[in-house]
Amino acid sequence: KKYRNTSPTIFSKIIDKSLPADIIYEDDKCLVFRDISPQAPVHFLVIPRIPIPRISEVTESDGQLLGHLLVVAKNTAKKEGLVEGYRIVINDGKNGAQSVYHLHIHVLGGRQMNWPPG
Ligand code: 5GP
Repeated sequence: KKYRNTSPTIFSKIIDKSLPADIIYEDDKCLVFRDISPQAPVHFLVIPRIPIPRISEVTESDGQLLGHLLVVAKNTAKKEGLVEGYRIVINDGKNGAQSVYHLHIHVLGGRQMNWPPG
């Protein structure tokens, strides 16, 4: 109810299967699919089925769902064979370079990340 007035994004179409995606996991709360423009050998997105627009809008009542998304991210990283580690990213808003306003967790792996330097 809290987020009902948000406009639908391309990810709503992936959730309702009207737009194809390479879905690698789904359950009653979330969906995991490969990013269409991968920035690493493995790059997938974990999204909630409910259309929370962005991380800066979540509240304490979303905590259990957010925890679930992170556990699913970790389980999928393991299934994808990311034994040397990986990176989890959430972009928020303009300065965060968010482009799709349906909350999503990026998981990137299969190469060395270069930030922070050293
Ligand atoms: P953001 O910049 O909002 O954090 O990330 C959005 C991500 O969604 C980008 O990495 C972009 O490549 C990915 N993306 C955008 N449209 C689609 C799509 O239609 N299908 C898939 N699989 N990924 C998409």
